[in-house]
Amino acid sequence: MTDYAKLAQLLFPHVTQTPQQLMEAQFPPRQLKDGAQVTRFAPSPTGFLHIGGVFSAMVSERVAHTTGGRVILRIEDTDKKREVEGGVSLIAQGLRDFGITFDEGATGDGAEEGAYGPYTQSRRAEYYHVFCKDLVEKGLAYPCFCTAEEIAQLRARQEEQGVTPGYWGADARCRDLTLEQVEENLRAGKPYVMRLRSPGKPGGRVRFKDAIRGDIEMEENFVDVVLLKSDGIPTYHFAHIVDDTLMRVTQVVRGDEWIASAPIHLQLFWLCGLKAPKYGHIAPIMKEEDGSRRKLSKRKDPEAAVSFFTEEGYPAEAVMEYLLTIANSNFEDWRRQNKTAHYTEFPFKLNKMSASGALFDLKKLNSVSAEVISRLTAEEVYDQASAWAQRYDGELYGLLAADPAYAKALFAIDRGGKKPRKDIVRWKDVSGYAAYFYDGLFAREETLELDRDLQKQVLEAYLPVMDCADDKDTWFGKMKELCPALGMSPDVKAYKEHPEQFRGHVGDFSAVVRMAVTGRKNTPDLHAVMSLLGQETCLRRLKEYRALLDSAPSGEAGAETK
Ligand code: GLU
Repeated sequence: MTDYAKLAQLLFPHVTQTPQQLMEAQFPPRQLKDGAQVTRFAPSPTGFLHIGGVFSAMVSERVAHTTGGRVILRIEDTDKKREVEGGVSLIAQGLRDFGITFDEGATGDGAEEGAYGPYTQSRRAEYYHVFCKDLVEKGLAYPCFCTAEEIAQLRARQEEQGVTPGYWGADARCRDLTLEQVEENLRAGKPYVMRLRSPGKPGGRVRFKDAIRGDIEMEENFVDVVLLKSDGIPTYHFAHIVDDTLMRVTQVVRGDEWIASAPIHLQLFWLCGLKAPKYGHIAPIMKEEDGSRRKLSKRKDPEAAVSFFTEEGYPAEAVMEYLLTIANSNFEDWRRQNKTAHYTEFPFKLNKMSASGALFDLKKLNSVSAEVISRLTAEEVYDQASAWAQRYDGELYGLLAADPAYAKALFAIDRGGKKPRKDIVRWKDVSGYAAYFYDGLFAREETLELDRDLQKQVLEAYLPVMDCADDKDTWFGKMKELCPALGMSPDVKAYKEHPEQFRGHVGDFSAVVRMAVTGRKNTPDLHAVMSLLGQETCLRRLKEYRALLDSAPSGEAGAETK
């Protein structure tokens, strides 16, 4: 037995398998069609779901599912200090709410699904040890007994001397301990970490192709990085190698803060005799502030937290579509050409992602969301708005639940046509949108810039003939008929040709009625609104507004002089 083999046995007496045996016996290659990608989203359960996390999870999910592959939810809980109770379910449930579904991994209720697990790093200690033992046997890893103070001193000295920091070169003191010295330290009960014996040299180069950033060339790794911490738990670097190998991941999508570590990872794959997966490093979502760009920040930006989108009531689908617009710039063109398709039909491409950070743009999100909501059926609007209101707006929820048929009818107005209205941007807007349909929410907030006397005359002429049960032509016909007696033109075109001859036109007439009945200048189809409100409510509001024109000082009653 070589000294390396003896050392390996000494350090890992409980490990009996080699990585190859483990892979063949328990984690065989997946049977997937050519080109199918296996991806994963690998968050740490810190109790916070960042919109950047949703973005990256969505990208992994899209890559897997557009290629006929699989996507895994892996929990990286090796840093117990940052872990928060319930953190896993927050992530799993949060992503599920956005429609991001995983084929394997943590389910969020403490369970896991899939044949390539466990998918939680704290349950995988034995696998990391199998790979580490193998490296020790090959002379590529060793125990390091340096204390935290010694490492801190080393760092300080390196900083002073201006050399690359880290455990390397002549500073790597435990690199060449003899078997006897190791045995002695172990007998003395000294804690140790396991380090890589890196064959890299300063100035050496490494090249790889990034699916998003293209060809990358960097300095190779020459630092003896830690593989296992003193408690036997792996570092991110080592866990990444072992996990993505055993889970047969083919495409790693992760934040570009990991690019700097890619040389370590590529070296580790190579030394372990493993094929590295492809990488795609995504740039963080940025925010523009005072003309400059910075990362979307958990501390400063409410929209960094996923809870912002749920509380505001953006439909999950809208958030996904918005994220797709920033992920692939051709998504919007595709959407224009495929108006009714579901976003999952979009041929997402990793290599179409931008290497510089996409800008978070609330205006854009709002327009995408209004568009998504405009495509929903009244039934869907009702269901989603009610689900939101149940959590965030009790008054609205009560009204929607009290008369579902009425609520669905109001959402149905102007829906489903060629040019649907886009008044609802998020569910938070529904109580404003629907306010005049409910006496409890109704408020007169807008004013009409039309001569007050004319408004009064319009109402007086209209009140005796108004009938909400009229069909649309009869209903509008009545307004037109009343115009000439008031000096108004029943025909907008005629008015426009000779405005000096009239006091207004039929559009102004209906604007007064609209203002009286809804308190708004702008609403969906007024005839539909009035038939839904019914005769009694319309009459009452017309009279109310008529009285208001007499009582309120100019401006307050919604009556301005033209
Ligand atoms: N847990 C790592 C992170 O949250 C995962 C990085 C990766 O996807 O490999 O950044």
